[in-house]
This record gives sequence, C-alpha cells and structure tokens, in this order.
Amino acid sequence: MMRTRRRLTRPPNKQKAVLLQDLIDQYAKQKDAYLVELAKTQNWHIWQSPRQVKRRFARQYSHHTLPIHVDDQCFFDAVATMIAWVESAKVLHHWKSQVFVHTEDKSARHRYFKALKSYAELAKVFSGAWYDPWLFHVIRNPLMHPPRIHHRRSAMLDDSSYRVFIDNGTQYISLTSLVKGQRIVLPLLGCVGIRGTIRVVYADDHWEIHTMSRVTVKKTEHRIQDIALDAGTTEVYTDQNNRRYGTNFGRILAHVDATVSDQGKKRNQIRAAAKNKAFVSQEERQAHLKKVQRNNLGKKKQTRRRVQARAAFATEINHALNEVLEQDPQRIIVEDLSHMRGKAQGKKMSRRVSLWMRSVLTERLDFKTTARGSRRQAVASAYTSQECSQCGYTAKSNRTGDHFRCRYCGTVDTADGNAAKVILKRSTDTEIKPWMTKEAIKKILNRRNAQITGAIPGAGCEASGLVQSLVTVNGQTPA
Ligand SMILES: [Zn+2]
Repeated sequence: MMRTRRRLTRPPNKQKAVLLQDLIDQYAKQKDAYLVELAKTQNWHIWQSPRQVKRRFARQYSHHTLPIHVDDQCFFDAVATMIAWVESAKVLHHWKSQVFVHTEDKSARHRYFKALKSYAELAKVFSGAWYDPWLFHVIRNPLMHPPRIHHRRSAMLDDSSYRVFIDNGTQYISLTSLVKGQRIVLPLLGCVGIRGTIRVVYADDHWEIHTMSRVTVKKTEHRIQDIALDAGTTEVYTDQNNRRYGTNFGRILAHVDATVSDQGKKRNQIRAAAKNKAFVSQEERQAHLKKVQRNNLGKKKQTRRRVQARAAFATEINHALNEVLEQDPQRIIVEDLSHMRGKAQGKKMSRRVSLWMRSVLTERLDFKTTARGSRRQAVASAYTSQECSQCGYTAKSNRTGDHFRCRYCGTVDTADGNAAKVILKRSTDTEIKPWMTKEAIKKILNRRNAQITGAIPGAGCEASGLVQSLVTVNGQTPA
C-alpha cells in the first residue's frame, strides 16, 4: 500500500507559476496521448513489458516537449493509471468470485485466473482474438471507458528531475522545467526529507508536492484490521483514511443548536418583558402568559424538540456506525470521551448539545460493536487534534479550524483525518494510556517534541539531524 504525504510550497511568483503551469500542461497532454495508445487492445501487453520495451514504445508517441526523464516518468505514470483502472474493475466487480460461480471445472478456473492476471490475455478476450462470450460479458462493461486526463493538475517527477536543498533554515525544491537550463525553485513549508518519485500538484489556488512511501500492511484473513475514528461536528466520524461517516450530522447539529438557543433566548426575552411590564390587572398578566404558551415557547415544546433532536442524532449515528461496521473491522479505535477532555468544540455548539452527542455516541458504539463482534478500544483523547500523525510533533498552531499543517515537517491533512491517524497510533502507544491525565500526556508529548526537533529550544528545522544530512548531501545554496 502506498501512503501519500502532502507538502505545501510557498506561493510561487508569476514567472515560476507560468513555468510550472507549462510543465503540468505538457505533461497532462503527453500523458493523455499515452493513455489513448495504451488503451488500444493490441498494446495492452506493453503494460507488463520490461522498461526498455516500454521506453521504445513511448518514443513512438512522444511529443518531445518534455525533458527526457520527465517524458519517461510520464509514460510509466500512464501505464500505472491503466493498470489501476483494470485492477479496480477486478475488485469492484468481483471477477474472481464470478469465476468461482461460473464454473466448477478446475482447469477452466485455472485458465480464467491466468487470464485475469495477464493484461495481454484480457486484451485478447476484449478484442475477440480469444473467443469467450462469458468472460467477455464479465469484463466488457467495467472496461468500457478507459481513463483519460480531464484536468491538467499534476505531473510526476522521478528523483532525477528535482533536487532538494536547505538554505537559511528553509527547505527548497528545485524542479526541472520545459526551458532548457532553467529550474523552478520553490520554497517549502516545513522541512522533512523528500525522496523518490514525487507528484507536483496544482490544488486550485496553491501548489503541493506529494511524496509516496510504501507501507506494509499486515493481512488477516478477510477482516480489515483497525478503523480509528475521530468524532467530529460536521460529520459523525472521520477515519484514518479521511473517509467520512454520517455527513448529515453537521446539518442536524446546526438546526438543533439554533432551535434550542433561539427558543431559549426568546423565552428569556419574553420573561424579562413580562417581569418589567406593569400590567394594569391580574387578568392582563394571565392573558400575557397564555400568549407565551400559545407561541410555543413553553417548556413542554422545548422538551419535545430535544427528544426529536436526540432521535435525529441517534439515526445519523446509527447510519454512520453501520457504514463503519460494514467493513467488518477487527478493532474500532475511538477517543475516550468519558472525561470530557481535549476536543475544542465550535463556539456555536452549546455544551448541552455536545453532552447529548457524546452520550449517544458512546452508548450506540458500545452496543453496535458488541453486536457485530468487533472490539472497541478507547485511547486518550488529549492533544489528538494537535499532534502530527506523520512525525509526532505536537503544537497548538498545527491546527487551524478544519486544516492541519505540521509546523515541523510540513505535512498537510484535514484536521479530522489527522486526528484519526493519531488515534490509530495511540492504540499501540506504549507510553500514552487512556487513564492518564492531560498533564501527564503533555509531559510525554513535550519530551517527544524535544526529541523530534533535536532538543534545542526554539530551534527550527536546522536543528534536526535529518535536515543536517540533507544539507551536506546537496551542499548547495538556492538559486
Ligand atoms: Zn509533522
């Protein structure tokens, strides 16, 4: 499994932005041209052929606008896109289990499985060179529309097309451009080593560098292992892969909160008015109080509203939990909310609403997980929203609203997605335990911060050993 790490660049000036955009435009055009060629069934065998064969093939369809290394990378990128397209169809449409259902004949199954492994064989079925109406029927629809490039947003570069260096505590990346001899030098936010193949991404209004690292995942029968959940206010939960569950939650919450506080406010206003008002007679006072009742500002109605809201919450929470449990995880890891620690709630959300929410969440989660045979594990909630899931650096300033950006390593994520990843990490943390006080956890995190940054108080990235070694490797100053 590949994990992507996103890094932000500082905004480039106009000239650099034009160079970057040109690079990405040409890259996207070229990749699209490669995709068109690779999608032709007579070329499917190329996907699995050796690099040299791939290169020779690529030369035939190259526009020769990209630097040679980038052009190669672009072709490999196109091949990877084609493979991902077929592989996802294979999984989504359960091709393997369809074979099992289709025939009990061992040798026939064997032949089909072999065909599913080889793109050249699949192409034969698709083109009719291998006549098999059943298999053709299985693969035809999912493979009807080969991938194309619709948005020119990113380019992949291998490590020969970029260079990383540090100057004055700022990390820079120097990218190759379409203009010979001209490099695009971009300052990065944060500083952690970048290596391997990267993707330069234009994300609507800013530029990002994505790095990929391989993560080994332990396999256990059919079950996925762990799902870590961060309880939010716009959705019920976000998991460590940024998948959101119960996305109507925010709307219900906003509605309930508005109703409750609105009604409360009105009630108080009218009460105050009634108190201060000098009524001519007792009857007039009575009439006024009746009016208050008629206007549905009484306690009864408020209570009923609260019950309704609670039901709406419970429904949405059930939906969310069902979605989580459909994946049949072995363990569900959540924050321990029983101490009401951590988590800063939005200003708008009243304490009362958050109390309901927590009690409903905890109760439903206990019930559902037990019913479905998943284990539930609670971890300490303190500072999960401030800790970086990648490097472990914890700081209040890492989080701004819904966004997370590590001040130390520069990793960006959604605040909830990052928190879920931290929750997952906490489940195997040998030091931080759920019963610990916030202060004890803070102590541990402070010590870790010092270890991460190299223990020099107030020092930026210059202090880290990793960065030091980068300086000596590159040993250059920025252009
Ligand atoms: Zn970090």
